Amino acid sequence: MKPPHAERKRDLLLAVCSLAPPAADGACAWCAEPLPPRRRIWCSDRCGDAFWANHWWSVARSAAKRRDRYRCRRCGTRAPKRPSRAAFRTEPAYKTAMRAYRAARRTERLEVNHIDPALGRHGQLSCVHHLDNLETLCPACHKVHTSALRTERASA
Ligand SMILES: [Zn+2]
Ligand SMILES: [Zn+2]
Ligand SMILES: [Zn+2]
Repeated sequence: MKPPHAERKRDLLLAVCSLAPPAADGACAWCAEPLPPRRRIWCSDRCGDAFWANHWWSVARSAAKRRDRYRCRRCGTRAPKRPSRAAFRTEPAYKTAMRAYRAARRTERLEVNHIDPALGRHGQLSCVHHLDNLETLCPACHKVHTSALRTERASA
């Protein structure tokens, strides 16, 4: 998977990315292994996917949640689980469970925070989306983090 028209941006990123090896002819741009025949940038789709997962926000965000096992890194809150229809004998029982699930999602839905702030770069391919710069947070912890950041900036 990759965003459209991203080749140029990819090359610019690879040139400055702290995770990428120094550019070398015939070597994978992500793991530096020799390129197999007919491969030009990545030795395998795995390496290409890993690159996008560290630079493309929509992919990076789900990769971060997966890595954090769908829990808030600070307090351990888990994302609420969507009730499965099969687990309920009657439609009203299922509907009640779905209502509770939707309400819980408003407060417990997991968000992904940039440790080094993204400052509006969410829509761009950028090294700010490196997985090691991302942490999964619940809305409460995210709010605490954001207001601490604001205070920090105001006093700086
Ligand atoms: Zn590789
Ligand atoms: Zn939390
Ligand atoms: Zn990078």
